[in-house]
Amino acid sequence: MASACSIRVRGVVQGVGFRPFVYRLACANTLSGWVLNAEEGIEIHLEGAETGLEAFVRDLRAQPPPAASIAEIDVRRTEPVGVHEFTIRSSQQGERPTVRISPDLPVCNDCLRELFDPSNRRYLYPYINCTNCGPRYSVVLGLPYDRPKTTMKDWPLDEHCTAEYTNPGDRRFHAQPVACSACGPNYYLHPHLHSNDGGSGGSIRRAAEVLRAGGILAVKGLGGYHLACDARNPAAVAALRDRKYRKEKPFALMAKDIAVARTLVELSADSQLLLTSAARPIVLAPARIGLPEVAPGNNELGVMLPYTPLHHLLFAAGAPEILVMTSANRSSEPIAYEDDDALQRLAGIADSFLIGQRPIARRVDDSVARVGACGPVILRRARGYAPGAVASLPTVRPILALGADLKNSITLAVDGQAFVSQHIGDLDHYQSFRAFQETIEDLVSMYEVRWDELLLVCDLHPQYLSTCHAATLGVPESHAVQHHRAHVASVLAERGEWTKRVIGVSFDGTGYGDDGSIWGGEIFVGSVQDGFERVAHLRRAVLAGGDAAAKNPVQAAAGFLAQVDGIPDVLSSPFDFPERYCHALELVPKDVRTFGTTSVGRLFDTAAALVGFTREITFEGQAAIWLEQLARGAPLTEPYPFSFVDDELDFRPLLLAVAQDRVRGRNVREIARAFHRGIAQGLCDALHVIAGSYALDTVVLSGGVFQNELLLEDLKSHLAQESLQAWTNHAVPPNDGGISLGQAALAAFGRFDVPAGMNHDQKK
Ligand code: ZN
Ligand code: FE
Repeated sequence: MASACSIRVRGVVQGVGFRPFVYRLACANTLSGWVLNAEEGIEIHLEGAETGLEAFVRDLRAQPPPAASIAEIDVRRTEPVGVHEFTIRSSQQGERPTVRISPDLPVCNDCLRELFDPSNRRYLYPYINCTNCGPRYSVVLGLPYDRPKTTMKDWPLDEHCTAEYTNPGDRRFHAQPVACSACGPNYYLHPHLHSNDGGSGGSIRRAAEVLRAGGILAVKGLGGYHLACDARNPAAVAALRDRKYRKEKPFALMAKDIAVARTLVELSADSQLLLTSAARPIVLAPARIGLPEVAPGNNELGVMLPYTPLHHLLFAAGAPEILVMTSANRSSEPIAYEDDDALQRLAGIADSFLIGQRPIARRVDDSVARVGACGPVILRRARGYAPGAVASLPTVRPILALGADLKNSITLAVDGQAFVSQHIGDLDHYQSFRAFQETIEDLVSMYEVRWDELLLVCDLHPQYLSTCHAATLGVPESHAVQHHRAHVASVLAERGEWTKRVIGVSFDGTGYGDDGSIWGGEIFVGSVQDGFERVAHLRRAVLAGGDAAAKNPVQAAAGFLAQVDGIPDVLSSPFDFPERYCHALELVPKDVRTFGTTSVGRLFDTAAALVGFTREITFEGQAAIWLEQLARGAPLTEPYPFSFVDDELDFRPLLLAVAQDRVRGRNVREIARAFHRGIAQGLCDALHVIAGSYALDTVVLSGGVFQNELLLEDLKSHLAQESLQAWTNHAVPPNDGGISLGQAALAAFGRFDVPAGMNHDQKK
């Protein structure tokens, strides 16, 4: 007598080889029935012997396909209907595609074995993939996810590939990007070898030679082009810096394998897990060898492992074991991903181009992550993570959140899920702004959301390009959310905590405040559901000259030091501030081109200037990173005073102590360390008072300053003594890459903000 059950599986279970896996598992246990892709995941009906059913469920739980992520398995008893075979049924069509598009996946071990097996049809074929691995988001042109809606549509499958693609027992069953060297695209080396020179092998070998000889190679990858060169060839790296106009910002590295990666950086067990995770991000870790050209003055390196078959082939063909692999662009433009554009924009940078014929549907940069004091942190969320859902949002109405202007990402909340786009970049670059517009169109059309049903949410800053763009989208209802409330809400959204009342701390570089001044040292009390009230902040300073102050630590210093009595003359030794400081200082009392600010980011810049960073920065956050690394070299020291008085954190005694110790000739590492400890101690004192008066036990930390791991370490030890738990970002970045998620969360609860001098009526 046959038993029967129906099983629902939810999570990331589509486009990851789940149905063929179920098919094989059912056959192995002599079960009949069917499997199909349904609205909310996978549905399975099984009939057969009781022992077979039990074995099936056990294996389903124990060994799902590697790229799947099961959120829930629901097994119910049902009546047998008397089917005699197991079939994969065609998908149910819903009203809206809630099918999740899988992020791109690294090449799997089965495919790697075939790649290097001379007897295999796909021996050395750079586009080998299967249902467990390969491109997804970077090849999808539309939903449902089927071959005609991918960038593989122009390569009809040959007989062999068709047989695999249509065989439910094959691991390439319905692998949409499947191809082989007989029927699929190839790589060729421009300008040396052409696509009709036969196969990819010769081109890849020549490309490896270019790298060995110290040349710069543009390589088409999964979500864009990279610029590659031999990381251990200082002349090659210097040439790349020079041609790319990238002065000091560290380059990412690709190590041939984990053993080589281990020679480069200190890998904790957690860092190794991150490095080898399905997202294959660039992982930041302490350097074990000096590569001064790669990361000048930086004692961390960013390393990733090969993730496409092509990368493995390049190394196998003799490319140097450690390659610089940096996004192909000039300075901070977005990464090039279209062949013509790459050839044009990278002419003069790359010596050769290794061009793959498979088009890239959309730009997806490498992700950047690290294992920090409070767990994994994503600093740039793109390939391998996007467009995965990061949170369930209790909203029926679709929400589109446009993020901030720096490190922009957007979030589309639809059918209760928040999908965060890949990192888009800084919108003041025209190319990035175009990418921002394209990503909006892309996500909205992918999920078939109508513009008139959307709730639009943007930053409170009236002059943000993203805010201005909101008005052009023709969406009837749009609102603003204050930048630092969005930072705090992003952490709570990741955790699905809507009603929990917390203390929210946002230490950040910049953001438009309720009062029109530049915020960035804010402490709130509240919840996502009820909104956040600002209860404390950094003592207000002055920012002279607006945006330029963010690029020049001494200029930021002018508006802070003007308030500190007894500060020594910073124009003379040991400070030697440049002339720019005087010009900025002149602006302060005149109140021209100045803004009030409570930015902790600028406070760090001021301290960096006092300790010796007096030049212009060449990338965002450079002075603060410099100060953190300086402090790491020092023993634990007594904190400088950073007192919490009348709901304000007073920076005056803190900066005075830094300046005085510098005059006394104290070691700058120790000064930097005492400054960090002062910030942590001061914040902790403030949290102690606030937690007491509001009876709260949880602190949320978000904003760009919390990318500072030393500060987090110090804070963590302090907070443990206060018995306060600290929550930080893990799924989206603590920098402005996480803003769009926070905006969407607050919008779901109708928690909006209105710019200074406007009330709700005026806004309409
Ligand atoms: Zn595979
Ligand atoms: Fe921010």
